[in-house]
Amino acid sequence: MSIAENISVLRQRMDAAARAAGRDPAEILLCAATKMNDAERVKEAVAAGVDCCGENRVQELVQKKPLGAYEGKPVHFIGHLQTNKVNKVVGQVDLIQSVDRMELLEAVNKTALRLGVRQEILLEVNIGEEPQKGGFTPAETLALAGQMGAYPGVFLRGLMAIPPVSEKKGDNCKYFAKMRNLFIDIDGKKYDNVSMVCLSMGMSDDFEDAIAEGSTMIRIGTAIFGARHYPA
Ligand SMILES: *Cc1c(COP(=O)(O)O)cnc(C)c1O
Repeated sequence: MSIAENISVLRQRMDAAARAAGRDPAEILLCAATKMNDAERVKEAVAAGVDCCGENRVQELVQKKPLGAYEGKPVHFIGHLQTNKVNKVVGQVDLIQSVDRMELLEAVNKTALRLGVRQEILLEVNIGEEPQKGGFTPAETLALAGQMGAYPGVFLRGLMAIPPVSEKKGDNCKYFAKMRNLFIDIDGKKYDNVSMVCLSMGMSDDFEDAIAEGSTMIRIGTAIFGARHYPA
């Protein structure tokens, strides 16, 4: 199937999942996770109507952006971001979804202030509290959201999570539900410099569960572009 056909099938599945949960399908945005796909394939996805693109690696972002890969749609950074590469991303993307540690938050804030921009961000939550994984714990996330006023170079727009690898459908529902509760909690506090509009969760294997639990943005790679072939 072509990229456009895959996206059309995905949209139908997103609609069905939203309706089954009593939600308006228009509330849920489709972010194409474009890693390892070249500018031409990304353009195909943009033309077929994804809502935004998400890049994982700085090198791919700086290579594809000048080729107009994302033209017409927002581009997000969704991967692990090294602090020494922050200057290649801040002000170049519409949203950094993967702010996963204090050192990075501080670097993004400082760089944005220096450039005179306000960088929209999500905090990445280690919702399974997995020791090997980056991201803030739910408790840290709640506390940090309350301190966003101290970071005028950024604007907190919501939360992102990658739950633990699951064995079967439904396994991640409890994590997605925890994320929704945290999202609602923070929203209710009306903190300075915070506007909770984006709850980014759900990938090719679990997006229907994520939508059932309140996701407002799913990040999809495989179900749009097919399996990724990593070099040996
Ligand atoms: C690759 C990736 C995705 C998409 O994964 P698929 O399972 O291929 O849909 C989503 N989010 C992040 C952060 C990714 O790196």
